[in-house]
Amino acid sequence: MKERSLILVKHDGVVRGLIGKIISRFEDVGLKIIGMKMVWADEELARNHYILDEEWAKKVFEKTKSSYEKEGREFPYKDHMEFGRTIQQWNVDFLREGPVVVIAIEGPHAVEIARKIVGTTEPLQSPPGTIRGDFAMIESYKIADSKKRVLRNLVHASDSPENGLREIALWFKEEELHHYPKELDKHI
Ligand code: ADP
Repeated sequence: MKERSLILVKHDGVVRGLIGKIISRFEDVGLKIIGMKMVWADEELARNHYILDEEWAKKVFEKTKSSYEKEGREFPYKDHMEFGRTIQQWNVDFLREGPVVVIAIEGPHAVEIARKIVGTTEPLQSPPGTIRGDFAMIESYKIADSKKRVLRNLVHASDSPENGLREIALWFKEEELHHYPKELDKHI
């Protein structure tokens, strides 16, 4: 029943001084932090984190396209892999811009809860109460894409339990993860 999710406070969150505020959102709901450190990723780590697979490219393509269409703008890309490659490169460059805070969390429904806390990909659409809605709402696809840069949306959270395990194994060595009881464990 327990899941794990990898959380990154991306470099925009670090330079804006939001590390503590972001971490507290995950602590507040009772998720257990089992690993935490600051890392400045190299090219290999950044590429292994943002893997370009067809399913992800399709998802990013569709999400961005529907936001353009909602605003009555024409989406200039036709090929989801070409678009995915562009976004992947922007993500890799952004991940290498400076240090990020890497957190491994664990708990029942950890992936779903973390995604809810983080909010939607585009901060403009992310409701108040979410990290992206509270601290980055001014950021949008329109601004990011017009500047040909990544959406600066403060935080990453794994999008599935499988990716949670994969991403934690990528960023942490086994001995960097810690197992200890928390109050809530008695009831779940
Ligand atoms: P999420 O982080 O919400 O899981 P995705 O996995 O769809 O989002 O995309 C990964 C990251 O790529 C996003 O957090 C965002 O920073 C960036 N991104 C996605 N789509 C775009 C876009 N159209 N323009 C700029 N950056 C984007």
